[in-house]
Amino acid sequence: MLSIVIPSFNEQENIPAAAREIGAVVSRLSDEYELIFVDDGSRDGSWDIITQLSDEDPHIRGLRFSRNFGKESAIFAGLKAADGDAVAVIDCDLQHPPALLSDMYSTWQDGAEVVEAVKASRGKEGIFYKMFAKSFYRIMRKSSGIDLDRTSDYKLLDRKVVDALNELPERLTFFRALSGWVGFKTARIEFDVAPRNAGKTKWSFSKLFKYALSSITGFTNVPMHIITWSGVLFFIFAIILGIQTLVNFCMGNAADGFSTVILLLLIIGSILMLGIGIIGYYLSKIYEEIKCRPRYIISQRTGNRQSKG
Ligand code: UDP
Ligand code: MG
Repeated sequence: MLSIVIPSFNEQENIPAAAREIGAVVSRLSDEYELIFVDDGSRDGSWDIITQLSDEDPHIRGLRFSRNFGKESAIFAGLKAADGDAVAVIDCDLQHPPALLSDMYSTWQDGAEVVEAVKASRGKEGIFYKMFAKSFYRIMRKSSGIDLDRTSDYKLLDRKVVDALNELPERLTFFRALSGWVGFKTARIEFDVAPRNAGKTKWSFSKLFKYALSSITGFTNVPMHIITWSGVLFFIFAIILGIQTLVNFCMGNAADGFSTVILLLLIIGSILMLGIGIIGYYLSKIYEEIKCRPRYIISQRTGNRQSKG
C-alpha cells in the first residue's frame, strides 16, 4: 500500500485539484493507496472539502488539527496516521509535480529507502527570499554538515524510515533534515518547482525566520561555540590592552582615554547581551521540549483506514 501525506493550511482552492491529480497518478501505481489530507487548522472551507472528498472516495482520509500547528506537525501527524509500505509527503499547492511520484515509486521498488525530490531550479522566488534561503543553507551546511541546498519536503519514505521518524521523541522537528539524519539508502530525483496552483504562500517572513532559527538550533550548537570563541578572542585582546595600559601608567603617561572606555563598554556590553540571548534561545528550546506537550492536537478525523495489505 502507498500512502500520500498532504499537509494543507487554508488551501480550499487547491485541495480538489490536488486530490484529483495526485489520485490520478497514484491509482496507476498501486490499487491500494490512500491520500491523507492533514488540515493544519485552516480557517477557510478546507475541512468541509476534505470531508466531502473522503465521503466520495474511500481512498481519501483527513485529519484536522485543533489549530494551526505548522507544516512540520502536519507532516508528522500524517506519517503517524499512514499505513503504507511507502509513504510520500507532497505539498497541497501542486508545486511538487505529482507526476514525479511514479519515478519516486519505481526508485523505491528498486530498493531505495528514502527517495528525495530535489529542486533542479528554485522556481519563482523574490531576490530577498533567495538570499535568505541561500544564507540559511550555508549556515546549516557549515555548522551541521547537512547539505540542504535544493532539498524540499517532497519525499517518499519506506515503512522502516517512517517508523524510525515516528519514534523520534522530540517535539521541535525539521523533517527535511531529519529524513537525512536517520540515514538509510537514499536516492535523489530532480524536479522543477512549478508555480503555485492557486492562492498565496502560507509562510510569512516571520514564520520562515522562526522556522530557520529553530532548524539551526535544532541541529547544531555552533552558535554557542561562537560565544566561547569570541570570549577567548576578547580575553587575548584584554591581556594585550591591559599590558599596554599598565606600561603607560608606570611610565607616567596614562592615557586619558574616556572614549576608549566608552567604546569598550559598548562592544563588550553588546557581545554579552548577544551571548546571553543565544544561550536563552537554547534554554527556551529545552524548556519547550521538557514540557512534553504533544506536537499537535487532532480534533476531527474523516474517512476510514483501509485494511493493511
Ligand atoms: N502548510 C501547512 N501549515 C502551515 C503552512 C503551510 O500545512 O502552517 C502547507 C501548505 O498548505 C502547503 C505546504 O505546507 O501544502 C507548503 O506551503 P506553501 O506552498 O505555502 O510554502 P512554499 O511552497 O511557498 O514554501
Ligand atoms: Mg508552495
